[in-house]
Amino acid sequence: MFVSEDLSVNEQGNLTIGGIDTTELAAQYGTPLYVMDEELIRKNLRRFHESMQKCYDGKGIVCYASKAFSCMEMCRIVASEGDGLDAVSIGEMYTALKAGFPMEKVGFHGNNKTDEELAFALDNGVGHIIVDNIPELRRLEKIAAEKGITAHIMFRIKPGIDAHTHQFVMTGQIDSKYGFALETGEAFEAVKEALSCNSVKLVGLHCHIGSQIFDIDPFEEAARVMMRFMGKIRDELGYTVPGLNLGGGFGIKYLESHDPAPFETYAERVSAVVKKECEALGMDMPYVYIEPGRSIVAPAGITLYTVGARKEIPGIRTYVSVDGGMGDNPRYILYQSEYEAVVANKASEERNEKVTIAGRCCESGDLIGENMPLQHADSGDIIAVLATGAYNYSMSSNYNRFQKPAVVFVNKGESRIAVKRETIEDVIRNDI
Ligand SMILES: *Cc1c(COP(=O)(O)O)cnc(C)c1O
Repeated sequence: MFVSEDLSVNEQGNLTIGGIDTTELAAQYGTPLYVMDEELIRKNLRRFHESMQKCYDGKGIVCYASKAFSCMEMCRIVASEGDGLDAVSIGEMYTALKAGFPMEKVGFHGNNKTDEELAFALDNGVGHIIVDNIPELRRLEKIAAEKGITAHIMFRIKPGIDAHTHQFVMTGQIDSKYGFALETGEAFEAVKEALSCNSVKLVGLHCHIGSQIFDIDPFEEAARVMMRFMGKIRDELGYTVPGLNLGGGFGIKYLESHDPAPFETYAERVSAVVKKECEALGMDMPYVYIEPGRSIVAPAGITLYTVGARKEIPGIRTYVSVDGGMGDNPRYILYQSEYEAVVANKASEERNEKVTIAGRCCESGDLIGENMPLQHADSGDIIAVLATGAYNYSMSSNYNRFQKPAVVFVNKGESRIAVKRETIEDVIRNDI
């Protein structure tokens, strides 16, 4: 009935998440409110973990891409499941560190890392750094040498794949700000240089072709291209790269009409390509990493809002304004992304209106969505926007000096605060 399996409707006709009445969560914690279902997050992590282990004969590794949703509680959950974590900034690394995350399982990404961040990663025992460009390689070599440490690195490669997704989240093609191009020989030159360094050790090749991808073909193609590049490195440079990182980007169901393949299918098909290429090359299977973000957390999250004004413009549209918007969910204004919404306190009724859900920021584009099927929403009703667990809280801002909402985790009938709601004092915290 809903896009996520953990959502249901109780006897009172209210929407529930993880068995808890969402209208009670709204009353207890206030709105806007992010709600994350811990049980579903763990279930998703385990599905990825188990299929990677199975398909890669115990050499499959899951690194949760924390940029999708990062807070200390999330890091603790990933740690307790035994998975790795990707970070793209000192802030994300610090969050993991403070949460007690085993830093040797952290991968550090980014197309423009600072010296401070590289030093922080080395000082805190980050497992591997995914190097994006030659100046970064040289800076890292120098910093690691000064510290007397060997930095484990992977190279971010652009395999030259069109991932059939929104151009802002497509990252594997040659015209991309990320990584080294294969076609031009740039990637090969980088590998050569790394092999001549004293303080870095090349432990893997990495690619990430984009995000919210439904089609498995581009993932297979990327795996094939990357394996052949590993073969070329072995043949021409005599070095067998031990790890292959195939990135994230698995699509999820935002709308009823979306039909992503189950991750198990992806893992089976892509691992078959990796195995076939290994055989053809006479190579052992490398350690294979994946970096799912959205697919772990998006389906497990919802956002609760309270309806304020309702504006019916005859012959044009109906606006339903809520107490949040682009500050807590900028994905519509960034990508015109689509969501499903439900009036949480009327969840058993038909969604027989089509409305525009508007936020309260000073931008006409500050919408949660247009033409959204919804129950008749009046002032005071609670609206739940579904599948907001990824790239909502992590992309939130203080535009208009609104305070960021709280994040609540639910698990088997219990709820707890994971991130406190910002106060108006927080808004001026750094002002002099
Ligand atoms: C964003 C990103 C991911 C996660 O992507 P999802 O679409 O959220 O799965 C993984 N790896 C890298 C390098 C990324 O930039």
